[in-house]
Amino acid sequence: MLSSLHIRSSQIPRASFLDLAPTSRPEPVSVDIRHHSPAANGSSYDAAVIGCGPAGLRLAGLASARGLRVCCVDPDPLSGWRNNYGAWVDEFEEVGLEECMDRVWERATVVIGGGREGEKDLDRRYGRVGRKELKTKLLEGCADHGVSFHKAKAWTLDHQEFRSKITCSDGCDIWASFVVDASGFTSPFMEYDKPRDYGYQIAHGILAEVDSHPFDPNTMLLMDWRDAHLDNEPYLRANNEKIPTFLYAMPFDSNLIFLEETSLVSRPTLSYTEIKKRMVARLRHLGIKVKRVIEDEKCLIPMGGPLPRIPQGVMGIGGTAGMVHPSTGYSVARSLRLAPLVADAMAECLGSTRMIRGKQLYQRVWSSLWTAEMKGERELYRFGMETLLKLDLVGTRRFFDAFFDLDPHYWQGFLSSRLSTKELAILCLSLFGHASNPSRLDIVTKCPAPLLRMLGNLALQAL
Ligand SMILES: Cc1cc2nc3c(=O)[nH]c(=O)nc-3n(C[C@H](O)[C@H](O)[C@H](O)COP(=O)(O)OP(=O)(O)OC[C@H]3O[C@@H](n4cnc5c(N)ncnc54)[C@H](O)[C@@H]3O)c2cc1C
Repeated sequence: MLSSLHIRSSQIPRASFLDLAPTSRPEPVSVDIRHHSPAANGSSYDAAVIGCGPAGLRLAGLASARGLRVCCVDPDPLSGWRNNYGAWVDEFEEVGLEECMDRVWERATVVIGGGREGEKDLDRRYGRVGRKELKTKLLEGCADHGVSFHKAKAWTLDHQEFRSKITCSDGCDIWASFVVDASGFTSPFMEYDKPRDYGYQIAHGILAEVDSHPFDPNTMLLMDWRDAHLDNEPYLRANNEKIPTFLYAMPFDSNLIFLEETSLVSRPTLSYTEIKKRMVARLRHLGIKVKRVIEDEKCLIPMGGPLPRIPQGVMGIGGTAGMVHPSTGYSVARSLRLAPLVADAMAECLGSTRMIRGKQLYQRVWSSLWTAEMKGERELYRFGMETLLKLDLVGTRRFFDAFFDLDPHYWQGFLSSRLSTKELAILCLSLFGHASNPSRLDIVTKCPAPLLRMLGNLALQAL
């Protein structure tokens, strides 16, 4: 897929694509939504959802379709989402939203590098999420079932025995029997009872018009771990050997491409400046001249860490509530897939005949999402992240070399959070079995602490 370009990288020039300002912003969506009436101040909804990202809108639409009166609070419900989301096409097909992908690649590829030059062809379709299409579709689902929207920031939450009050930045109060926090990673509303020892994915991405690029427009590049672009950059090379970054690329045609230099996971976080420098060196090495930056994105995703305290008086969904895959940073497809479970539990409790409220309600809804099985699986995914955190460039390459040689059921299931605890255990054993001897040594010598912690947490959950 890649042409063999070997342009020598010398000193990184000061002038680069980093000096180019993005020329466009995500377009707002146009859906006729119902606005919360301030005259209704004091009247109560069944559920209020804080945040109109993918997770919040999906849940609001599903809950309202089940007959609940729902209000969404967001500073700008109709604004365009900024993040350039990607996902496996089968994940969107599973939730019937595949028409919301605006570009699909029939294949993806992984380049390991470091003596394992062969590309690994992944026979699985990958797509870029059409942000406008997805947001429009989810908002229409909300509009069809009468969801109200309030354009403001949620400031504070006050839980009373059978209902909660959201005080908003404009002074308005929204009352609801149940509040869902879908406000993303920076939420102040979730409570934790364990230290939040996140790893962080950090990346710099650009959607750019380029003179040319060496990628096949029919294949997306999931990861390229090669480091020849750092040959003349001893400082960057030494750092990359310790905390490696890879290139992720979605080529749209021969002149339009999304490129992202990504640190899969680091703790403490690799600096953003370093990521950008590595990207400049990489593009220079690949002979990619950026003519125009159409959009750029700074990506910082907290991964792993503990789950919020379960249960608590506000339900969490999406980035705020431990749903980010601890080893990949993805969460959109998972939130879309799991939201119906939460909506069902909400409808069962809040629906007019049952009237389950307060602590019983919180317990029922939280455990619809985080069953004992799901918590156990998450511990295994977290162990995957802790393992990746310990690996240097050589170890990371060995890991992915073995990972993508596994039976596709396992690597695909792992990436999509679809494996059962038993399957995850088989994956771990099989990965260990497939791994080279140095790779096994890495796992045994570098990961005993996370391994013990995972076993401890699994044992606690089993009690
Ligand atoms: C740059 C970037 C790229 C990513 N790419 C991918 C990807 O390709 N694939 C993938 O699966 N995941 C990706 N992720 C990870 C994750 O899926 C996204 O962060 C995703 O947007 C999380 O969705 P969400 O609905 O939980 O929260 P968000 O999308 O963050 O939405 C939260 C919403 O809540 C609103 N809000 C925040 N605070 C308040 C408040 N106090 N009151 C009211 N509203 C509030 C915000 O304005 C926003 O509209 C990416 C993350 C980033 C940062």
